[in-house]
Amino acid sequence: MKIAYITTEISPAAKVGGLADVSLGLGRAIQSMGNDVFLVLPKHSCLKVKYLEDLTQIDDSFEVVFGKTKYRLGVWSAKLHGLNLFFLESLSPKSFFNRSKIYGFRDDIQRFAFFSLAAMDWIAKMHSDVDLIHINEWHSALAAPLYKEKYANKMHAKIVLTIHNLNYQGICGPTVFEKVGLSKEKSMAFSEDPKRPSKANLIKSAIHYSDYITTVSPTYYEEIQTPKFGGALSNTILNYTNKFTGILNGIDYEIWNPKIDSTLNSNYTVEELDRKKEVKSYLQNLLNMPDSHDKPLVTCICRLVPQKGIQMIKNAIDYTLKKQGQFILFGSSPIEKIQQDFNQLKDQLKSNPNIQFIFDSYNEELSHQIYAGADMLICPSLFEPCGLTQLIALQYGTVPIVRKTGGLADTVFDIEKTKKANGFTYTAPTREGIESALSRAFDLFINNEAQWRAVIQEGMNMDFSWKASAEKYFAIYSQLASKK
Ligand code: ADP
Repeated sequence: MKIAYITTEISPAAKVGGLADVSLGLGRAIQSMGNDVFLVLPKHSCLKVKYLEDLTQIDDSFEVVFGKTKYRLGVWSAKLHGLNLFFLESLSPKSFFNRSKIYGFRDDIQRFAFFSLAAMDWIAKMHSDVDLIHINEWHSALAAPLYKEKYANKMHAKIVLTIHNLNYQGICGPTVFEKVGLSKEKSMAFSEDPKRPSKANLIKSAIHYSDYITTVSPTYYEEIQTPKFGGALSNTILNYTNKFTGILNGIDYEIWNPKIDSTLNSNYTVEELDRKKEVKSYLQNLLNMPDSHDKPLVTCICRLVPQKGIQMIKNAIDYTLKKQGQFILFGSSPIEKIQQDFNQLKDQLKSNPNIQFIFDSYNEELSHQIYAGADMLICPSLFEPCGLTQLIALQYGTVPIVRKTGGLADTVFDIEKTKKANGFTYTAPTREGIESALSRAFDLFINNEAQWRAVIQEGMNMDFSWKASAEKYFAIYSQLASKK
């Protein structure tokens, strides 16, 4: 099959969060099954081009009409881990992706509406024989109505939408449809935001127009059918369950693998766990932390946004330091108030060498070293569609301590509940909740080395690679392609 992915992120060249890992990992897994795969992305000026191979401009005169204006686009091709990528950017009269970061601008709706239109028009012009177009999040959601209204009678492709996080829906004025050349009235009939009917909801629109919709774990799929997690869209989702499912994300084991990871001072496997201690020492030295093996080293690697359980992250820091453990907080906040709070906390704790705050929004190499060097990783999310940090931690023998929600509930199994435990879970989104899980983890780490090791081994032996999940995606693609 010939399959196009329209996405705004690709790891590690343009990464904000899990979407980047999924674009790379799923694309590679589907390609390795013998399919002809390519990805279409915006040409962000903040692209980390050092990760791309053969970046070449292949066109500078592709044209798209957005609103009443004709835009001239540049098209670039590149390779990344064997995947074919195409990047689009308007050259004139104005550029949409010449920005310091990928998201977070007042005109994001316009920027990504333009991208959806450009990507769809470009695929229709250059790859009209494509069998499947897989779109992601609200950023490329408009490609679904565009395809169905403009191209469905000229091409044979089917459309799959993946919702990576329903918190982000693309709610905007309905004129966006006119801007991309669609009828406002017709489109709005399926796209009205349920809470504010005068607004368009781009995810709702894509749910209607796509042939199939997935989200990134079975539990999150169940959750978003309820108002608590699905909000105003829960009813819409209930109306479309005949073409909707939850498929767990995987991780790419050629990239996340302690046996071959070139960023580590020492490589290890489940049979050579003692060498993981060398990575811990290296990390402690690198970050000027006391080099001690017997202290549990806890980490949290995430975007510091409310979803991730900000208060519980602070509670975990507090608890860890009280119990003489060590903590590395790695990530930053796009929300000024949250970042300021953490800056203050860092300042208050600056004389304590057992805590390190690294407010770097993105550092791939260091993230690998922290995943490998830590003993435990917390993920106290209020909700979590899939979560990748716990999957990466499992692969690196770092025991996850997670709140039981979404994909976290599907991948971390508590020692109190099963003999095949790989971590610790808790339910209440409170200080007591996270402390109860942390205290059980600390107790096992300090007092029962053999059982601690068994939990690590169980996690490392589990298979969360893309293989099984990519097969599920491919089954959906094939079924859709076989329909007229
Ligand atoms: P989300 O998509 O909500 O941000 P996920 O757990 O699905 O959360 O994915 C997060 C991804 O971003 C993981 O690959 C994680 O390693 C990565 N990540 C988070 N913070 C950083 C950081 N500061 N530097 C490098 N990678 C990071």
